[in-house]
Amino acid sequence: MSYDKVDVPESGQKITVEAEGEEGLHVPEDPIIPIIHGDGIGQDVGPAAQKVLETAAEATGREVNWMRLYAGESAREKYDENLPDETVEAIREHRVAIKGPLTTPVGAGFRSLNVALRQTLDLYANVRPTYYLDGVPSPMKAPEEMDMVTFRENTEDVYAGIEWEAGTDEAEQVREFVEEEMGFDETMHEGPIGLGLKPISEKGSKRLVREAIDYAIENDRDKVTLVHKGNIMKFTEGQFGEWGMEVAEEEYPDEEVFAAPDSLWEEQDEVDIPEDAVMVEERLADAMLQWMQLRTDEFDVLAMPNLNGDYLSDAAGAQIGGLGIAPGANFGDNRCLAEPVHGSAPKRAGQDMANPTALILSGRLMFEYLGWDDTGELIRDAVEETISSGTVTYDLARQREDAEKVGTSEYADAICENIEKLS
Ligand code: NAD
Repeated sequence: MSYDKVDVPESGQKITVEAEGEEGLHVPEDPIIPIIHGDGIGQDVGPAAQKVLETAAEATGREVNWMRLYAGESAREKYDENLPDETVEAIREHRVAIKGPLTTPVGAGFRSLNVALRQTLDLYANVRPTYYLDGVPSPMKAPEEMDMVTFRENTEDVYAGIEWEAGTDEAEQVREFVEEEMGFDETMHEGPIGLGLKPISEKGSKRLVREAIDYAIENDRDKVTLVHKGNIMKFTEGQFGEWGMEVAEEEYPDEEVFAAPDSLWEEQDEVDIPEDAVMVEERLADAMLQWMQLRTDEFDVLAMPNLNGDYLSDAAGAQIGGLGIAPGANFGDNRCLAEPVHGSAPKRAGQDMANPTALILSGRLMFEYLGWDDTGELIRDAVEETISSGTVTYDLARQREDAEKVGTSEYADAICENIEKLS
């Protein structure tokens, strides 16, 4: 496709799909990768992360050819709109991209650009690896026990936006239908009432669980835990669990994936699991929030509906030091859009202060998606070396007496030096 306001890099090749309709990308050693720096602190962390990622790629014999795209404020300046078509199309065409945070203006009529991107590109799994980096201040006694990856369904559940405001005709019509046609005549209180739908589909549940199991197999993980509240919401959350277990039972050989029977109600210690198989189990969401803190090292990959995923991944992130370092990515079929968990933190914008670690580690996740595991490892090691040696940005410095506070760009330079040293 030809672009109007995007500079297409002169060198580099496109990432392509190996066979249409099947999973698998053909990744050249010099790919073109679209990047959106983002709003607010995006202008600080974007260029810093870009530098670290290209340094790590070069150190492992590869070359990233960046294709700068625009969304949010930078797009309003260039295109007079928030999310230009050519930004979306460029990500679609190049399969894999990375973005910084985008501001969602408060007020009616503004749709979140992040949600719009995820929906338009059908990026159905929000993936957040949560692991401890030596030297990061944490409220936990043993933060190093955390090494978990959460898969959050990204397209449905109560986030589908099918809801009706209290006092409107629509809300009353839905109430009438539910009471009179569906027979729930004594369930809702009288007077104004807000109502919403919680769609959980077979398609949405199964493809998410499949993605989590495939990830566990490819990354030598032992266990996938399906987290839901199926004891109460039987036909939505409970059904998610059933469909998830069906995927585990029916789509993989027994020696590869073992669907643990009755795991909701019984301890699994006694179960005989085939060696090297990934165990798939179910857990209730409320209990899971406790166990994540009390039995952190027992969990590995978690797969869950949208709302559970939202709560659980933030809680997990807090255990290993919080927003400035929490990476993420959105996966679809043969697609990946990496983005940090944090937002645009407008108060810190443009001051060369913000912590670029989350965006850098999101880049690590993107590289691993491309099969560049050695590049990903190098990034992790260099970031950890930098933080543990006491070179940190303001957010971590204020929690550590022994650390030297540096700006965003100086911190990125220190990581690049460590990449050179470690490679
Ligand atoms: P935020 O993540 O921007 O900030 C929350 C707190 O964390 C602030 O105190 C901030 O200073 C700190 N923080 C965040 N990232 C940091 C970093 N890299 N280094 C140091 N400190 C950091 O959340 P918010 O204030 O709720 O949201 C601000 C804007 O960002 C809103 O418009 C929101 O819609 C948007 N947002 C975007 C995304 C995304 O692009 N995926 C995600 C969340 C929020």
